[in-house]
Amino acid sequence: MTLNIAIIGAGPAGYYTAEAALKQWGGTAKIDIIDRLPTPYGLIRAGVAPDHQSIKAVTKRYEGTSLGQNVRFIGNVMVGRDVSIEELLGLYDAVVLSVGAPHDRPLGIPGDDLPGVIGSGAFVSWYNGHPDYAGLQVPLSHHGVAIIGNGNVAIDCARILAKTTEELATSDIAQHAIHALESSAVRDIHIVGRRGPHQASFTTKEAGELGHLSRAQPLLRAGDLPPEEEDAGLEPGHRKMVTHLRGFAAAERSDKPVTIHFEFFRRPVAVEGDGKVERLIVETTRLEDGRAVGTGELHAIPCGLVIGCIGYRTSTLTGVPYSDALGRFPCDDAGRIYGGLYASGWARRGPSGTIGTNRPDGFSVIEAIVADGIAPKNGEGGTGLDALLRTRGVRSTSFADWQVIDAAEVTRARPGAPREKIVSVAEMLSLIG
Ligand code: NAP
Repeated sequence: MTLNIAIIGAGPAGYYTAEAALKQWGGTAKIDIIDRLPTPYGLIRAGVAPDHQSIKAVTKRYEGTSLGQNVRFIGNVMVGRDVSIEELLGLYDAVVLSVGAPHDRPLGIPGDDLPGVIGSGAFVSWYNGHPDYAGLQVPLSHHGVAIIGNGNVAIDCARILAKTTEELATSDIAQHAIHALESSAVRDIHIVGRRGPHQASFTTKEAGELGHLSRAQPLLRAGDLPPEEEDAGLEPGHRKMVTHLRGFAAAERSDKPVTIHFEFFRRPVAVEGDGKVERLIVETTRLEDGRAVGTGELHAIPCGLVIGCIGYRTSTLTGVPYSDALGRFPCDDAGRIYGGLYASGWARRGPSGTIGTNRPDGFSVIEAIVADGIAPKNGEGGTGLDALLRTRGVRSTSFADWQVIDAAEVTRARPGAPREKIVSVAEMLSLIG
């Protein structure tokens, strides 16, 4: 008998889980990868920076998985709205939630609800042309922007704001973002970290890139850098990243019009403004046992936009336990939630690691399904899902439909760009008929 597996989420975690399932069961399992968007690839399409095309090349691998026998991509189906988890568990032998962590963690400071405060999930989705965020209002008429957080997402946001149209020419940034950035008044981009350079989680390549921008110069206070001899205790990759920061601190001031200010040892305490963001108030910190402790010294960073890059939360789903403290489904290390229901990727372990980190994740969840002795229970699997969706009038999309959308996006690309994304679900659906 055939094992029926449903994977919810067609991003990296979903595809690596499907790949692991194929390796485990080959032709004896049927795998449906279900996504709420008509298009596959999740974070690769809507999260990975549009000017980092080499990372996006991994979609070729996912395409290979999709085109294999016994794997289906089923897009435009929202679990929790079009079909419930309970129904999926009735149809399939195992259901894996690979739904990522699409919601921004709130800043949790006074004023964080003012217009002009945006989470990085929203901002990144906006410039990447995610249909939910195509209409986001991103205020770029003030010279200052404050980006909160010292991870790679903060660097991505700063770099996209700092780049020229020419530097973005070979990217697949959405047209609406290009237009908005072309008339941007942003000149001072502040990357605010509550701890210091040694504690920042930037990676070497991402930090180094900021030193090669055509119209922007990264700057930091030399006094924020620990004594150089302390770099010896760092892991080699991290040491290289800190070397870039030292280079930025030592560089001569250029006449480039945009400055990326690294604001280390600054804890955000409030966003202020009259009906909209006008400044971010930060408190100077010092480290105590590796933790940031406020000193009481306050500074104002003038800005019209605050982007929180402090992590993400998984969506809640009816019928699935959720931990507010974790911001995801509570599960064991292998991704077990409860009988037949599993999680992989960010939905299992939170928003950390690279795209590749999802690969071992996918394999470990399939190992858990095997270890749990999940066997075919004679459910209807995908045939039952198709029938259910038909009775509910849900127009799901197939991988062949995605190939039509893909071809249309490639055809209408700007010169030099890989594609021009269609940012409206209605337009995608009308294209495929
Ligand atoms: P991250 O690396 O975990 O960074 C989150 C940052 O937010 C940390 O600096 C953290 O500071 C700070 N933070 C958390 N709560 C805060 C608060 N209340 N106030 C002020 N600061 C706060 O996460 P990320 O940048 O969102 O990236 C997510 C994952 O995707 C990471 O693994 C990242 O490497 C990966 N990613 C990779 C790439 C790439 O490879 N090119 C690009 C983008 C993202 P503390 O350290 O003090 O807690």
